[in-house]
Amino acid sequence: MNFEFTEEQKMIQQAAKDYAQRELIKDAIERDEKAEFPAKHIKNLAGLGFLGMMTDPKYGGGGMDAISYVLAIEELSKVDSSVSVVVSVCNSLVNWGIEIYGTEEQKEKYLKPLARGEKIGAFLLSEPEAGSDASSQRTMAEDKGDYYLLNGTKNWISNANSASTYVVIAQTYPEKKYRGINAFIVEKDSPGISLGKHEDKMGMRSSDTHSVMFTDVKVPKENRIGEDGFGFKYAMKVLDGGRIGIAAQALGIASGAFDLALKYSKERKAFGTEICNHQAIAFKLSDMAVKIEAARFFCLKAAWLKDNNMPYGIASAMAKQYSADIAMEVTTEAVQIHGGYGYVKEYHVERLMRDAKLTQIYEGTSEIQKIVISRSLLKD
Ligand SMILES: Cc1cc2nc3c(=O)[nH]c(=O)nc-3n(C[C@H](O)[C@H](O)[C@H](O)COP(=O)(O)OP(=O)(O)OC[C@H]3O[C@@H](n4cnc5c(N)ncnc54)[C@H](O)[C@@H]3O)c2cc1C
Repeated sequence: MNFEFTEEQKMIQQAAKDYAQRELIKDAIERDEKAEFPAKHIKNLAGLGFLGMMTDPKYGGGGMDAISYVLAIEELSKVDSSVSVVVSVCNSLVNWGIEIYGTEEQKEKYLKPLARGEKIGAFLLSEPEAGSDASSQRTMAEDKGDYYLLNGTKNWISNANSASTYVVIAQTYPEKKYRGINAFIVEKDSPGISLGKHEDKMGMRSSDTHSVMFTDVKVPKENRIGEDGFGFKYAMKVLDGGRIGIAAQALGIASGAFDLALKYSKERKAFGTEICNHQAIAFKLSDMAVKIEAARFFCLKAAWLKDNNMPYGIASAMAKQYSADIAMEVTTEAVQIHGGYGYVKEYHVERLMRDAKLTQIYEGTSEIQKIVISRSLLKD
């Protein structure tokens, strides 16, 4: 076992940290209040290569490993997860899927601009009545010979407005159930696509979440990803990797809140001493640090398995469930350590607590991760 990062991994971690601590922090509270998409930061991070960091350089990406991805997402999420979610969706749910399962023509036309950060991607799986039960797709992709005709509604789509390239999951053969589902690359400006209102969310408020409606949208046949009926498998495969990103995001939220709580506990005095000298506070800090360290190991192990071409689906489900759950616990304690100051926006920790909640919900709720993990335990 080797617990040391390579020079390249350390460099990427430092670059993400520098950007987060110097730039993201400046307007994080304001962006949250205004629920404003961080367009300027996404452009800068694209310029630094983060949107396509894991994509093969042959297709315009950075060719970095999943460990570097975890380190970068953690650093960005310490400050603002509305930014890191864009990096995660683009790398894991869109770019990686097209790179592994797409045709050379799809990679040339769609992956290259995505990997270079010139375009943003979005992943459209969830529907008003298909969330955890993602196989109950009602969006229809009717096979019309040269093209598919797309009709239906997708819900809760991150990057829905800012993206140019959608990966859409839809049903072609309802009688085949999940085996009849397909995945498509759809250009957002195709006629027949409209967006619902920007969702007014509890946390990650400046991430760009909308429902997306498809009315007789023509999708060229060559935009289907993989074999006919491969779409559900595509979704499950990209979510295995996506969960590493969301686990790292939860880890970052927890460690960002911890850093703030530790600093505050050394400054704030009560009963004639800094509050960290009260054992009740010191033990909270100890519990938080242990949980964060365990979450970090889960995330890095899942990433290491992926980097070494070993099965990582269960490891990523464990990483996501654990990191998301402890992110909620750690951020709640960080607010508690700040006392009344933790309850106001200026100190950042209440925002981190609101952001943490989403990591238990999207890309598979904590309950769904437990289903994935327990099924693997129970099968022969
Ligand atoms: C801000 C935000 C951004 C999102 N971004 C995207 C995106 O970019 N693309 C995308 O496709 N989706 C996205 N989602 C959707 C997200 O993945 C779903 O919300 C999530 O999968 C849960 O689905 P649901 O909301 O329909 O809840 P439901 O599936 O209705 O679940 C409700 C509750 O029931 C529980 N539950 C359901 N089934 C079971 C079961 N079998 N056993 C035990 N408990 C169960 C769930 O865990 C949950 O607690 C986003 C969601 C949000 C809120």
